[in-house]
Amino acid sequence: MKEGIHPAYKDVEARCACGNTFKTRSTKPELHLEICSACHPFFTGRQKLIDTEGRVERFTKKYGAQTSEQRKTAEKAAKATKAAAAKKAKPATATA
Ligand SMILES: [Zn+2]
Repeated sequence: MKEGIHPAYKDVEARCACGNTFKTRSTKPELHLEICSACHPFFTGRQKLIDTEGRVERFTKKYGAQTSEQRKTAEKAAKATKAAAAKKAKPATATA
């Protein structure tokens, strides 16, 4: 290898969000991972929501838990109010 052009390739500890740590080699001083072989569903065989570093939890705290059903009913309600508003507006335009 040519001297002075390659970054130092050192032993580092990779730390995952799940708490797992393992040794590897990298040019970076430390590695922070969101997912690793100890917690990825492919390796664990368990299908679960991957909530890295509590991001989903933070979202539900901020906006509340949402399901596709809730979103559909909210959409329907919005459409109904819009239709009602249009109905109210029609007689007024007819008289004018
Ligand atoms: Zn992990």
